[in-house]
Amino acid sequence: MTDLMIRIKNLIHEYIERDDDGNATGSIRAVDGVELSVAPGEFIAVLGHNGSGKSTLAKHLNALLFPTEGEVWVDDMLTTDDGHLWDIRQTAGMVFQNPDNQIIGQVVEEDVGFGPENMGLPTEEIWERVDESLKAVDMEKHRKKSPNKLSGGQKQRVSIAGVIAMHPRCIILDEPTAMLDPKGRREVIRAARALNDVEKITVILITHYMEEAIYADRIFVMDHGKVAMTGSPAEIFSDVEKLRALHLDVPQATLLADMLREKGLPIRGAVLSRDDLVRQLTALYGGQDTK
Ligand code: ADP
Ligand code: MG
Repeated sequence: MTDLMIRIKNLIHEYIERDDDGNATGSIRAVDGVELSVAPGEFIAVLGHNGSGKSTLAKHLNALLFPTEGEVWVDDMLTTDDGHLWDIRQTAGMVFQNPDNQIIGQVVEEDVGFGPENMGLPTEEIWERVDESLKAVDMEKHRKKSPNKLSGGQKQRVSIAGVIAMHPRCIILDEPTAMLDPKGRREVIRAARALNDVEKITVILITHYMEEAIYADRIFVMDHGKVAMTGSPAEIFSDVEKLRALHLDVPQATLLADMLREKGLPIRGAVLSRDDLVRQLTALYGGQDTK
């Protein structure tokens, strides 16, 4: 037994490539020797350019894929143990990019109740869980609506509510904001942070928006199936050169802060937005010349 929520040992995942007749023609190593551990209650962000292996890694945490080599443990359950499949999926819930593919109910509250209903819970408890889950993502006032009347950010929050209604200890969000406008993105990130802060749920947020990773306790940057960087947001975002080499879109403000730092300005910590930079410069110069 360990105290870890997630434990990954030398994970390798290879997809088999096939031609039109279904014959194997080769293989792609999508995850290549990943080692990582996540403690209960941590907020982890996983960054990386397209094709770096983030989704493949995420699917292992939910036993949707199984290792070609290595081991994945979720709350001390080995994902390849058949007997644990249901427990693993209930422990580590998954939210995907497109909310339209995840919402099945005709009414919001009914959609959120599907998971608990499938768990065979008594009706009273199902409704309690629907109430608390909608509250946790700030969607209780929309409970009687049809999901197709909601904005993208609202729909994604309904998907999150559907997952947390099953009382997972860990939630994995695979680019949950990729299809959303800036307002929807903010709503979803706020909801994810609240689950971590208030409900103490372990959160693994996969994203390619660097601004969304700033709230994480730790960041993993993936590249070619490997973990290329790990550290706190301040550590990760201060190595701009490396981030660019890993093909991540570094925000303008971060680049500018990095240039100023190189010129000798004592800018400390992560600068990810114009506001961060203004705050830093104001602290340095007392707000005289920053207008
Ligand atoms: P990311 O989520 O970071 O964009 P993925 O895990 O989706 O990365 O993909 C990693 C690599 O594996 C890519 O080269 C991708 O083309 C390949 N890949 C992903 N899914 C499959 C699949 N079902 N079959 C074959 N190759 C795949
Ligand atoms: Mg992906």
